[in-house]
Amino acid sequence: MKKQIPYKIYLSEKELPKKWLNIRAFMGNKPAPLLNPATQKPMTEAELSTVFCSELVRQELDETTPYIEIPQKIRDFYKMYRPAPLVRAYCLEKALGTPAKIYYKFEGNNTSGSHKLNSAIAQAYYAKKQGLKGVTTETGAGQWGTALSMACSYFGLDCKVFMVKCSYEQKPFRREVMRTYGANVTPSPSNLTNVGRKILEEFPGTTGSLGCAISEAVEVAVSSYGYRYVLGSVLNQVLLHQSIIGLETKTAMDKYGIKPDVIIGCAGGGSNLGGLIAPFMAEKLQGKENYQMIAVEPASCPSLTRGKYAYDFCDTGKVCPLAKMYTLGSGFIPSANHAGGLRYHGMTTTLSELYHQGLMEARAVEQTEVFKAAEQFARVEGILPAPESSHAIKVAIDEAIKCKETGEERTILFGLTGTGYFDMVAYENFHDGKMTDYIPTDADLQKGFDGIPKINL
Ligand SMILES: *Cc1c(COP(=O)(O)O)cnc(C)c1O
Repeated sequence: MKKQIPYKIYLSEKELPKKWLNIRAFMGNKPAPLLNPATQKPMTEAELSTVFCSELVRQELDETTPYIEIPQKIRDFYKMYRPAPLVRAYCLEKALGTPAKIYYKFEGNNTSGSHKLNSAIAQAYYAKKQGLKGVTTETGAGQWGTALSMACSYFGLDCKVFMVKCSYEQKPFRREVMRTYGANVTPSPSNLTNVGRKILEEFPGTTGSLGCAISEAVEVAVSSYGYRYVLGSVLNQVLLHQSIIGLETKTAMDKYGIKPDVIIGCAGGGSNLGGLIAPFMAEKLQGKENYQMIAVEPASCPSLTRGKYAYDFCDTGKVCPLAKMYTLGSGFIPSANHAGGLRYHGMTTTLSELYHQGLMEARAVEQTEVFKAAEQFARVEGILPAPESSHAIKVAIDEAIKCKETGEERTILFGLTGTGYFDMVAYENFHDGKMTDYIPTDADLQKGFDGIPKINL
């Protein structure tokens, strides 16, 4: 007998994943290694350990262990806000009049308001275990900084956040949430670092950039005793931690005998999508199932759909290693787009390689369409979605409408990465009809491509 599918499928504590899944272990052609920009040789464990925590470096370089144990202390923290609910979007299905079955995994059920806490807590744990005093990082829109502040306060670590100056000024409430959790928040560029002072001298009125904030955070980490730098997306270790999203989803779906036909997620650096698809992609790579998977990116920052697959710098300041990825060039500056978390110029090496092998697809969507989908979703499902997450909603709705036309009863799964409470200025612009859709021309993109280093391998 078929079980009735509830609105929300929860897991019991016993059913929660005990191990993360490392997609790279299932890949035949592995993602290309990070390179040292000075020598153009693969980054060694020793080189990476001057910047990152030792255990995290081991995870970063591990492309053979399929499952990695989640330490008990991290599982204990996960229990406070996980499992994240897997919701059957009955109301949305009804509103669309579609025969499709729509499910979403909601990661906004914690104070940071996004999936970023899943990796923040893991990174803080390993920093504490190593006996460090604290960590440094950058934040743009503020979700990562908030998640890391929460994780650091839990483990009693000092947390220094360099927040892009314009966000620091425009999102004072995000800043105060971080300070509530004890983080030290500095607008970037600042005069605390050589990099910051140099930039301030050259461009006195600058409102900062993510690239500059990264350079400042790295400088402070490597020059302060007992500190390391941590990053909230792009790296393989982050995808590993985020596999908790997909593992919970798969367990919940298996309980009811549900198989998604298509899996959809927004892609900035690629961590939530990499995490959501992890166990499904592992089955696909083993030839067991053939799921369709779609990465959704903003048309204003189209790294997968219009970028080049090449070695590039991970940051504008060019202090980080080179990664082979789909990239728009580290100097590419996307037009003002309200999905701050999707404005990164590149894409994690693992998803880049999977996309390159044709194992997943990508679509670019325009922001007014995204906000229309966000509003439609909010009105029937109740949750106020983050602009980033709404990219996935948009494509999920498109797919459901296609099913209405063809009569196919496909099962659609998408990742709802977070809530949009701090993005009300964006919603305001949308409601007032002031939102624009800027799509870069080929000439705009060429400027970014011109800055990609010429690496011969
Ligand atoms: C950061 C963020 C993203 C994008 O980052 P990924 O690494 O691509 O997952 C998406 N949604 C929300 C809510 C975010 O905070």
